Amino acid sequence: MDKQEVAEWIFDYSIEPLIRKHGPKGYSDPASYKPWLRDEFTFRCIYCLIREVWRSDGQDSFSVVHLKSRDGSPELTGVYQNLGYACLACYSRKQNLPLPFDPCAEPLGRHITMKPNGELEAATENGKRLIELCRLNRKRLVEFRQRMISLVQVLEMSDDVKAAESLRTLTDLPSDLPNLSVLRPPGGNDNSDGIKQSYFAKKD
Ligand SMILES: [Zn+2]
Repeated sequence: MDKQEVAEWIFDYSIEPLIRKHGPKGYSDPASYKPWLRDEFTFRCIYCLIREVWRSDGQDSFSVVHLKSRDGSPELTGVYQNLGYACLACYSRKQNLPLPFDPCAEPLGRHITMKPNGELEAATENGKRLIELCRLNRKRLVEFRQRMISLVQVLEMSDDVKAAESLRTLTDLPSDLPNLSVLRPPGGNDNSDGIKQSYFAKKD
């Protein structure tokens, strides 16, 4: 990790479409896809980029979300390609409201950027709608971004070994990585090779 770059990308939204690694099928309860989605979305909220390792309760502070509305697209209910991973704060605000676009096909980095003061700025009308829908500029979230960026910048400036270690833990993966190879989706897996690319497999 190039520690000099952390403050620049810690809240960076991707500009590349998400090409899914995994393709599990057949679970009747969308929550059963959670281990796959944790890995797919790199253990952070698709909307606000909060990471599991920043939450004392880790994955318990996150939920499976439908990307397209269940009301508007009932055929997509429980379909893996329509599921995302979000923190409970974003989840509770978005609930089942329709997103103005698919955040995987149209990555959020094309719609929103973060200003140096921690606020998000909409680059498009869809970005504006998403910021409003998930309240991504809510006061406490903006203050949290400011604190995290300040902390990272202080750690980056330090030559102390402990500072480097602290910086690493801020961007680390959670300790409870899911072992996807032992899971057996009832409907099979359209992309079982993706398991080799999971963080658990790569760690080994
Ligand atoms: Zn969130």
